[in-house]
Amino acid sequence: MAGAVNRVVDVLVIGAGPAGLAAAARLAAAGGGQYRIEVLERERESGGVPRYCAHGGFGLADLGRPLDGPGYARRLTRAAVRAGATLRTGVSATGWSGPLTLDVTAPTGLERITARAVLLATGARERPRSARLVPGTRPAGVLTTGELQQSTHLYGVRRERLGRRAVVIGAEPVAHHAVRVLRGAGADVVGMVTEQSCGPRRFGGLVAPPLLTGTTVAELLGRGRLAGVRVRHADGRTGTIRCDTAVFTGDWIPDHELARSGGVSLDSGTRGPAIDDAFRTGSAGIFAAGNVLRGVESAGAAAAEGRGAADAVLRHLSGEPWPVSAVPLAAEDPVVWVAPNRVVGAVAGRPFLVRVREPLTRPVVEVGQDGRVLHRARLLGTVWPHRSVRLPAAWTREVDPAGGPVEVRVAR
Ligand SMILES: Cc1cc2nc3c(=O)[nH]c(=O)nc-3n(C[C@H](O)[C@H](O)[C@H](O)COP(=O)(O)OP(=O)(O)OC[C@H]3O[C@@H](n4cnc5c(N)ncnc54)[C@H](O)[C@@H]3O)c2cc1C
Repeated sequence: MAGAVNRVVDVLVIGAGPAGLAAAARLAAAGGGQYRIEVLERERESGGVPRYCAHGGFGLADLGRPLDGPGYARRLTRAAVRAGATLRTGVSATGWSGPLTLDVTAPTGLERITARAVLLATGARERPRSARLVPGTRPAGVLTTGELQQSTHLYGVRRERLGRRAVVIGAEPVAHHAVRVLRGAGADVVGMVTEQSCGPRRFGGLVAPPLLTGTTVAELLGRGRLAGVRVRHADGRTGTIRCDTAVFTGDWIPDHELARSGGVSLDSGTRGPAIDDAFRTGSAGIFAAGNVLRGVESAGAAAAEGRGAADAVLRHLSGEPWPVSAVPLAAEDPVVWVAPNRVVGAVAGRPFLVRVREPLTRPVVEVGQDGRVLHRARLLGTVWPHRSVRLPAAWTREVDPAGGPVEVRVAR
């Protein structure tokens, strides 16, 4: 980068969502403010996703008080700045020019920032319709939940532009928010379509829209504006739902481009950076926390991970050696992913998160390595595809560091 300004900091945090801001607050407060902590945020304002979630449901878990998304984002921002972190908005990390040197684009020009530790907290995004390979025309009125929320809460898109008859595709918890926002904008939600065999159990006090389970969207119809969606049911029958708005929800993909371009190894299940329980990636000095690790958990969980990662960064800055090797975790179908997904010795007790592909009632979770069973327990109740199961970490004491991958299985 010709003409780039070169700078050095102690810790560079990429992303000012709950994970990055919570990490920055803890890092900046540590050791009487002895470290230079810089947070880069590509958007004009800090706060990440909660900034445009104008509903309650934030803050109780980690700040001890109920807040809406923007209020929560403001509090985390204030805490990071008060602790002494330098927070820069409108500034993007675009690539790497060294193992711990980031290329950065700022309104003032190009920069190269070298850090002793880098924390990736870049979040996750919903895959858009194009990435889901839904055929058909390219009419207006097709959005993701994020786009829907941004257009209503940040950009004040007029109600009539959002349409009158909407279909929500997906049934993850975030689909509730899409239904709420659409109804708030005066649209009638005429259907909720999910490939899963089940829909949401609760609907957060809302009247649930008509639910089509085991159903995929086969085609988008209409020229100019969306006119309908053609759906295919599990038994092969097809049908058309007339609508002028379709919102694709869920189907999260970690924002892992920066990790990938930096050669940080990714986990094939989560599609985020592979990490051990100290949020360390396979690349020395690079940590990752929050939704970049595996798609959406709650904001409180992302912030807690940010704080946990900050503690690990501080140990690293104090000279804790970087592990030379780690035992990978392998998720066996119907387990979709496990996070963390590398084990380095016995871990501190933070539970692992496990996601499954389909609903399972009272399944047995088993962890094994090279034919040995390290953990086996029956879970109570039903495990759902869009909610993580917590797997206690005690079994990590039994892992052979020189052995093969640790397998995580769930049996009916
Ligand atoms: C519709 C919806 C409703 C939700 N409702 C709730 C709720 O009620 N309660 C709750 O607890 N949680 C809720 N969540 C979840 C919560 O918002 C997320 O879990 C949380 O925001 C994750 O935090 P994060 O810091 O990991 O990522 P994010 O919030 O996504 O922040 C990541 C940040 O990194 C920035 N970034 C990415 N790449 C770069 C780069 N290269 N350079 C600079 N900056 C970069 C992004 O611009 C972004 O600001 C909801 C999520 C959605 C989508």
